[in-house]
Amino acid sequence: MIDVKNLEKTFGDHKVLAGINEHIYPGEKVVVIGPSGSGKSTFLRCLNLLEEPTAGTITVDGEDITDPKTDIDKVRQKMGMVFQQFNLFPHLTIKENIKLAPVTLKLMSDSEAEQKAMELLERVGLPDKAEAYPKQLSGGQQQRIAIARALAMNPEVMLFDEPTSALDPEMVGEVLQLMKELADDGMTMVVVTHEMGFAREVGTRVLFMDGGNIAEQNNPKDFFENPKNPRLQEFLSKVL
Ligand code: ADP
Ligand code: MG
Repeated sequence: MIDVKNLEKTFGDHKVLAGINEHIYPGEKVVVIGPSGSGKSTFLRCLNLLEEPTAGTITVDGEDITDPKTDIDKVRQKMGMVFQQFNLFPHLTIKENIKLAPVTLKLMSDSEAEQKAMELLERVGLPDKAEAYPKQLSGGQQQRIAIARALAMNPEVMLFDEPTSALDPEMVGEVLQLMKELADDGMTMVVVTHEMGFAREVGTRVLFMDGGNIAEQNNPKDFFENPKNPRLQEFLSKVL
């Protein structure tokens, strides 16, 4: 579904992605871990061109999205993104937040988007919050709404960048549970996280990023039980 070839990203003279090659297949749940500054967010942001790659190609469903002729809005519609900070629009109600993109991009009529929003609010367990404003919700609830908002575009892939890192500990579980349900429904997911339990339980493959490279990758069992890269061994000894 996503095919990354020799992806490089440089900020000034700092090479943040050093030539990444990766394939993500439909239905995979790829979990990305690694130290702070290793390029995890930059990698994720390149996948939907929130960052413009310095070199290399990214192909999504057979279409080279790094080709200037590609309609990037069309590509982004296939990829929902959820950030550490929920980024809900504070002046819009929860329902308006969810409806905004599909209506603005004319992908749905107002009534279709309305119906979709209510379905999604049921799905994330917050149907009674439709008319509330983001600041009236807890952090965990806001993140569940941010996930619903991304799902409103019927994406083929969901990209998560540390979705639980800004949450109080007691709210982490509800967001991970929702992500697990999405995974069980067959969604293709790429998840940057420090939640090793999630990586083990939900991941179909775990990648370790270090210094702008994917230094090791494996199925979760072998990744955690038999890490080979010394940097990964050191990283796991600190986080497990
Ligand atoms: P991670 O998500 O693994 O913590 P990032 O992808 O955010 O790492 O960052 C990797 C490196 O790139 C860091 O050294 C960071 O300072 C740098 N970086 C990220 N974004 C920018 C930017 N917009 N401008 C300059 N440097 C950046
Ligand atoms: Mg990051």
